[in-house]
Amino acid sequence: MSAKTSTTTHRCAKCGRVLRNPSPDGYGPKCRAKVRRATRSPELATYKPHLVEAAIELLEQGGLIPLRKSSKNRVYLAASSDGSKTYKTARAACTCPAGLKAIHVCKHRIAAHAFDLAS
Ligand SMILES: [Zn+2]
Ligand SMILES: [Zn+2]
Repeated sequence: MSAKTSTTTHRCAKCGRVLRNPSPDGYGPKCRAKVRRATRSPELATYKPHLVEAAIELLEQGGLIPLRKSSKNRVYLAASSDGSKTYKTARAACTCPAGLKAIHVCKHRIAAHAFDLAS
């Protein structure tokens, strides 16, 4: 992959629509607004605030990519903090180290929850 490629088509990571401008988080303006609104949902208030913050950061970096379009139990690919790994994430489970221990809900699952709410 070359960084010089200027003909790349940018598509919204959420709805797949072609974006006129490249977007830092990978979402089109409408989907970004939906996801933002979802992160303020009372449903997410049941999680630890610092994890919700981390989940919002992940979403704003475009670190959560939906794999399937199905509306229920949607599966996402989540990028690790340094971007070197990807995990499979859904609201109910995640393959990251914290998720596999399953003691706490990880930020990926919270991000997936927010994304589900934004659908
Ligand atoms: Zn979109
Ligand atoms: Zn995780």
